[in-house]
Amino acid sequence: MPFCPNCNYEYVEGITICPDCGSHLVEDAYFVKPEEWSEKNWEVVFTSWKDYEVEMLRDNLESAGITSTILSQKDHNFPAPGNFSVVKLLVRKEDISSALEFIKKINQENDEGEEKE
Ligand SMILES: [Zn+2]
Repeated sequence: MPFCPNCNYEYVEGITICPDCGSHLVEDAYFVKPEEWSEKNWEVVFTSWKDYEVEMLRDNLESAGITSTILSQKDHNFPAPGNFSVVKLLVRKEDISSALEFIKKINQENDEGEEKE
């Protein structure tokens, strides 16, 4: 369900902008509660313009027990071709080293897989 991070209010599917405050709604699956959310406690560990890549990495981190959240600047109401909107993956500061280690491992595995072909 789309969720307004500003009003803490859930909306029905299909709505992307909060009718009350005009904020971009987020999927509550990725939503971090305001009391937990503080930019200084989160660091970007990965950025990509491919949102599926970031989502895949997020799932991998979750399965490793590392809490992560996605920040997307993509505006689906404005599909501009060649628009390099960056999708960011953030983790808590205490998880940075393990997250970076994990990402490095995944990249190495990917490289090895490519070399075998
Ligand atoms: Zn709102």
